[in-house]
Amino acid sequence: MRRAKADAYRLPRQVLPVRYDLRLEPDLMAATFAGHETITVAVSRPTETIILNAVELEITSATIENGKGRSRRAAIGLDEPAERCRLTFPSAISTGTWTLSLSFQGRLNDKLRGFYRSTYKDASGATQVVAATQFEATDARRAFPCWDEPDCKAVFATTLVIDPALTAVSNTRIVSERREAGKKVLQFADTMTMSTYLVAFIIGEIIATPPTMVGKTPLRLWCVPGKQHLAKFGQEIASFSLKFFEDYYGLPYPGDKLDLLAIPDFASGAMENLGAITFRENALLVDAQAATHAELERIADVVAHENAHMWFGDLVTMSWWNGLWLNEAFATFAEMLAVDAWKPVWRRWTTFGVSRAVAMIVDGLHSSRPIEYPVRAPKDADAMFDTLTYEKGASVLRMLEQHLGPAVFRNGIRDYLKRHAYGNADTKDLWVSLGRAAKQPVPTLMNGWIFKPGYPLVTVSLGKNGRLRLAQHRFTYLRKTKGGRAGGAGRWCIPIQLRVATAGKSGSRRVLMTGATLQVKLPKRADLILVNEGGHGFYRVRYEPALLKRLLRLVPDGLAPIERFNLINDAWASAVAGLMPPAEYLDMTRSFTGDRDKNVWAVLLESIHTLHRIMEPARRPAFEALVRGRIGPAAADLGWAPRAGEDDLAKQLRGDLLRALGTVGNDRDTQARAAELYAEYGKHPASVDPNVLPAIVAVLAHAGDAARYAEFAEQYRTAATPQEERRYLYALASFQSTDLLARTLEKTITGEFRTQDAPYMVRMVLMNVVGRELAWEFVKKNWDAMDRLYPKQGLRRMCEGIVGLTTPALERDVRTFFRERKIDLGGKTLAQYLEQLRIAVALGERAGKALDRHLGDGR
Ligand SMILES: [Zn+2]
Repeated sequence: MRRAKADAYRLPRQVLPVRYDLRLEPDLMAATFAGHETITVAVSRPTETIILNAVELEITSATIENGKGRSRRAAIGLDEPAERCRLTFPSAISTGTWTLSLSFQGRLNDKLRGFYRSTYKDASGATQVVAATQFEATDARRAFPCWDEPDCKAVFATTLVIDPALTAVSNTRIVSERREAGKKVLQFADTMTMSTYLVAFIIGEIIATPPTMVGKTPLRLWCVPGKQHLAKFGQEIASFSLKFFEDYYGLPYPGDKLDLLAIPDFASGAMENLGAITFRENALLVDAQAATHAELERIADVVAHENAHMWFGDLVTMSWWNGLWLNEAFATFAEMLAVDAWKPVWRRWTTFGVSRAVAMIVDGLHSSRPIEYPVRAPKDADAMFDTLTYEKGASVLRMLEQHLGPAVFRNGIRDYLKRHAYGNADTKDLWVSLGRAAKQPVPTLMNGWIFKPGYPLVTVSLGKNGRLRLAQHRFTYLRKTKGGRAGGAGRWCIPIQLRVATAGKSGSRRVLMTGATLQVKLPKRADLILVNEGGHGFYRVRYEPALLKRLLRLVPDGLAPIERFNLINDAWASAVAGLMPPAEYLDMTRSFTGDRDKNVWAVLLESIHTLHRIMEPARRPAFEALVRGRIGPAAADLGWAPRAGEDDLAKQLRGDLLRALGTVGNDRDTQARAAELYAEYGKHPASVDPNVLPAIVAVLAHAGDAARYAEFAEQYRTAATPQEERRYLYALASFQSTDLLARTLEKTITGEFRTQDAPYMVRMVLMNVVGRELAWEFVKKNWDAMDRLYPKQGLRRMCEGIVGLTTPALERDVRTFFRERKIDLGGKTLAQYLEQLRIAVALGERAGKALDRHLGDGR
């Protein structure tokens, strides 16, 4: 019998689960588990076969009964490639409610997905094991046979049978604890009706903070022993954001308790399992006194993001993975809202500009995809967890929120959650709720942003009639695809906010651009025109030279930081796209050297790093001199120590500038001063500002020899906090000696680095101009080992490093390798990396000679 192709990854719907009573008995030392489940199913059409998901499980028995006759035993067929289990019964199962019982066994794997093993060294140096789960997108089926699709929601009642010395956490409270044959048997309360990918269980010698009560919800943080003192900051933002979201959503938290757990090995940043959120250690635990602003912001972001999901994602879930953006874009948007409310001085919506800019890079590719995009195979679902889903999604939601007004938008969200609680929903359902609140149709405004790839470039000029003329085209970096199709088509419905100043008085105006062009009447003698005031729009702006000149005169103080950020960021994108000569861009950067905004500098530094990567080796010393000329004055102005009354963003900027000056600027004085301060820090740790220390470490690695390498490798092994561990780890990929980088690469497959980190280390060496050839040879030679060892998403992120292989010869070799090995990273991932590489190589070909004038005189 042939299976219809369209159904290859979707389960039949005549039998659906209502409730799982799940009992699992893991053996952490043997790395195995035994399981038994009884699934209450509703049969809507008589059938002899039941198909559900299972993979890498040995199912030893399957029976079904409905309390009216004898139980019937099924023949079990496992289809490993399809990740399915087919149960065939001797006669048809009639419609109604049945109980399906399955016994099974599996292995606790080392791939950080499904039910897996994480290890850590305890205080005595002995290796200890934690068993944890990571089910999103499609890996619950690796822990227990199930209907592993987000709309097959059910109640889960979990029982864990564990070693009495250990502790276990699952989605809900423990309702009973007893001993049975020398084991501890923990029974957890029924969950709400929810998707399989949100089920979680964590078992080990883990310890919790005392609970803090947020309304009726006890909230705790968990970690392995010895790290409890790093939980305070995470607990603060967790409590704040939980309360914040209860107010914002107008609905109580849907679980019965909330645990946040730091797991020593974790593939992504965190996972929103209802009531048992799991994190990578450095996304939850921190010594707030010793951390940088960026490290603290990351923890606040991730914790708030996961808490936002308890409603958006867990209570109301997308029907299928094509709608993943509903979960992730909203949680990303909501994380900004919560963190902005918690720490207004962090100006979180301004610093979000950097994330928006990253999304615009990917979405400026011909190989971009719409935010909502068809998904069939599990690997395509995995590929959806990218910057388009998260950052572009959050950006367009922010644009919509600003257009409708925050209160109207929030009312629409409340309506959506109330209507679809415990169920599933699609994009159109969100539009209906927002439209109801806004009393205007949302689809015409939003569908272009969600269902089409790309975004517009708005060209701004003054017409002869004294009107402002706006025109929109799709922005792409490369003019044409291989097939010769032009990339310029496309039209969006763009909410545009303008600022127009006349004789020193400025006013805001909102227009909705729906056509290819728009004429806007201006007041007489308008002497300043700014498009995208406030910076919320997901589009780029290109001004005619006279208008741009007037804006540049206002830098820095006459424009808001996000507006300056957009101005320089759009100029850089124009340079990369060939719309502006690279030399003109470098001229323009001179206007921003007096800027003291962290985000503005993020663009300047990013462009410097890119230009450095594409620069031929012979030109690098001259380029380094130019970099010192640009960064040096600002770095000298800020110095090495914080000033009284300085805000967190300024402290972070100091670190960013010093790091760039000592690495890509290769500044000897900075390197020497870093060495002095680091020696001082060894004696008096409080002598160096926490925001400067990581810069010092990076600079010393850049200039470091074998002795420094050995020192940092040891610091990595004995680090006191997850942030310190990460800092010294990453430093090992930043040395400028191929011998030392070869050692780092070797450690990525020998188990010396955790597999959660190893692929990111390879990626860093691929982006290191000294190590990239070496790293690329290493990847080619060890691909099979990496494919076997690394978590899937780690492998995908590692491949992003090919974007750093910016010579024509390397580019050819990269293309040949991926083609010959038939490597598919899911979705459009590989095509996007290759296009980014093409853009960088093309920029290198254009920029080299054109920059000689600047490089000659160091200006
Ligand atoms: Zn998320």
